[in-house]
Amino acid sequence: MISPARTYWDRTTETMPPGELEKLQAGRVQDCPERMRASGVAYYRERLSGIEPGEIRSVDHLGRLPFTVKDDLRDHYPFGLFLAPIQEIVRLHASSGSTGKPTVVAYTRNDLKLWAETLARGLVAGGVGEGDVLQNAVGYGLFTGGLGFHDAASLVGAAVVPTGAGNTARQVTLMRDFGARALVATPSYALHLAEVALAEGMDPRSLPLRAAFPGAEPMSEEMEAELEDLMGVTVYEQYGLSEIIGPGVASSCGLSEGMHVWEDHFIPEVVDPESGKPVPDGEVGELVLTAPTKEAFPLLRYRTRDLTRMTREPCPCGRTFARISKILGRTDDMIIVRGVNVFPSQVEHALLGVEGLAPHYQILLSTRPNRQTEMRVRAETRVQAADAATRAALQARAQEALGTALGLSTPVELAPPRTIPRSEGKAVRVLSQGVESP
Ligand code: ADP
Ligand code: ZN
Repeated sequence: MISPARTYWDRTTETMPPGELEKLQAGRVQDCPERMRASGVAYYRERLSGIEPGEIRSVDHLGRLPFTVKDDLRDHYPFGLFLAPIQEIVRLHASSGSTGKPTVVAYTRNDLKLWAETLARGLVAGGVGEGDVLQNAVGYGLFTGGLGFHDAASLVGAAVVPTGAGNTARQVTLMRDFGARALVATPSYALHLAEVALAEGMDPRSLPLRAAFPGAEPMSEEMEAELEDLMGVTVYEQYGLSEIIGPGVASSCGLSEGMHVWEDHFIPEVVDPESGKPVPDGEVGELVLTAPTKEAFPLLRYRTRDLTRMTREPCPCGRTFARISKILGRTDDMIIVRGVNVFPSQVEHALLGVEGLAPHYQILLSTRPNRQTEMRVRAETRVQAADAATRAALQARAQEALGTALGLSTPVELAPPRTIPRSEGKAVRVLSQGVESP
């Protein structure tokens, strides 16, 4: 592995002086609406009808454009918003569609190159290069994770082991036998891998594994520390979403908090989710991203629904790009319990601070006959409690931690070790249990 701190994939771009970056972005945001208008797609013509040709000349002018939301993609399912004809499209990905029609995204050859280039920056920031074996344990297929990391890792010259997610015992054997130095997995699946390794008598810390690249779901500080400790790795978190390109929108450099947004191609804004107005740097809001350079499917001001904070404070790594904090939640996963707003990430943060609890939990929601939402939490213990008193004390500590963190008294059920289902992809932590009988 190369020394992460001083290495860049694309030094000129990653350390570009802010003034130059602004100029580069300005040219790109200027072109994009014109391309959209020229496409003849009615949606773009209508969307841009209030905007004069040439009106958008800098990032500061983006605020004049309307937002794009997930429903816009669904309403034009499957190919209605693409700017490239099918002859130029070489890849299609789609989201699960569990909450409606799937959203479909398309890539030209250049788009795939762009994707690999931006994600390569994140892998190199984490020290991956030639001579490294990288095990890619995220799902291949319609999900953008598998092929996205695969192409980027190939580009930087790593030897990719395309295990995908699942078949955990075999993954662990391969990780040992092939001497993987880097692992790509969702945080929950990485934990599960470590757990299975330990159960098979193999301590992941004794393996050559040095870096993990988790993403695709929220990961609290505590979860990250747990992963580093269990696996003996440094964690380089990755953020992305299929609509924008897939993983590789933002990557951690390991030297500061948060993730650098590759804003030469993915331009971030943080807005108040209610009013849509920008919030100052450092304040929490919804991340909005503009991807002006993609050929097949550029997007203007896409509402990600992910909540974060942005900073432009200089980073010791020398990269000049803005950073976003860990994703604090999604505007659509907020739960309202007796008038209190709760994000699952707050529950995770609180539980992982309680000694004796494992990083596996479920949030159980039920609706009372009066329509109020009730919340309980099921938390897994690290070891089987020795006696009823120990158990009761642990339960009390968990309830107290949740009460303090959420400002809401929340019943906790303790679950014995290894009884909460493990996930191979994105963990399902919130379960709705319907209406309680009166
Ligand atoms: P879907 O919207 O169907 O889950 P994606 O697979 O494109 O589709 O997932 C993108 C979403 O995954 C992001 O909008 C975000 O909510 C979540 N995500 C991705 N990376 C991270 C991360 N590092 N931390 C928290 N959430 C993440
Ligand atoms: Zn940095």
